[in-house]
Amino acid sequence: MPSPFQRTDKRTDELTDGLTAPLTAPMTTTVSSPYAGFIAGLPKAELHVHHVGSASPRIVAELASRHPGAAVPADEAKLAEYFTFSDFAHFVTVYLSVVDLIKDGEDVRTLTYGIAENMHALNVRYAELTVSPHSHLDRGIPGEAFMEAIEDARLAAERDLGLVLRWCFDIPGEDGLRAADITLDAATRLAPAGLVSFGLGGPEIGVPRPQFKPHFDAARGAGLHSVPHAGETTGPGTIWDALNDLGAERIGHGTSAAQDPELLAHLAAHQIPLEVCPTSNIATRAVATLAEHPLADFVAAGCLVTINSDDPPMFATDLNQEYAVAAELLDLDETGIAALARNAVGASFAPDDVKVSLTGEIDSYLARHLAG
Ligand SMILES: [Zn+2]
Repeated sequence: MPSPFQRTDKRTDELTDGLTAPLTAPMTTTVSSPYAGFIAGLPKAELHVHHVGSASPRIVAELASRHPGAAVPADEAKLAEYFTFSDFAHFVTVYLSVVDLIKDGEDVRTLTYGIAENMHALNVRYAELTVSPHSHLDRGIPGEAFMEAIEDARLAAERDLGLVLRWCFDIPGEDGLRAADITLDAATRLAPAGLVSFGLGGPEIGVPRPQFKPHFDAARGAGLHSVPHAGETTGPGTIWDALNDLGAERIGHGTSAAQDPELLAHLAAHQIPLEVCPTSNIATRAVATLAEHPLADFVAAGCLVTINSDDPPMFATDLNQEYAVAAELLDLDETGIAALARNAVGASFAPDDVKVSLTGEIDSYLARHLAG
């Protein structure tokens, strides 16, 4: 399938200038984009963004001050330093220390609605938020109270902010099969109204995907979509496993797909969307530098790509910044950037009326911009 992107006439060497993230500062991927204003006003959908991983310093500071004595600083200024990671394992450790701050339904409400406010400020109209219920239930929050809290926040966000939220419940892979059982139970028995999909996250090394096949079979049987992470920190074999064993309908990251032409051709032929999160890949060292990021290879192969922020405050980014990075990597103008936004809507599990209205908003925003 031909690429939906329009290219501008920028030179390739301009692309690589300033895009190299030094090892000592893996989070310095900020690009100054001529399209920043266009991107900020563009109505957007986000498909790969984590619940706890979206906790901004403001939200984390509020939770930390509610629970003194926690490992996480309650000072917003110190949180930036705390969120600097030496590698993927360190990232998981820090992430879990933030999970430890969430102790009851009120904390869950504060976190979830705070995330919605931050998304609204970025002109995000629809988001699928990846939630790991096991992590919270395992720390003593009753399942019913957890579901009530996220649903309260979801309905309030739609009513107050016009932001439509849906949930992906994912298995924290590092916690093994018991966590998978609890996640499946939460997804099928507690089944909150906003739940649309079932995922698998955490480390990939030493956590083979096929062991979770029975859980994905059951979740898909209950009508949930399959959206595992795969090929973020391991090779293309993990992506094949996600497709063949877990019935993946979208791939979280899929970074290593670029190493396997047959896989790229398969993803393109079946238009299986890739949830690409460029800054995250640099921050976790899954990719050494932005200049080496395979996003352009995916597009060149005809894959359907969506742009996402993963754990934005922890990676010192947000969705608008990720669109700016993607525009640089793909050499896009406003029409190409709007095509990326349309990709995310099309690849989402949003209700049809939301898809139609959001696509219409993107189209009229672009038309107004081009006419202006
Ligand atoms: Zn993720």
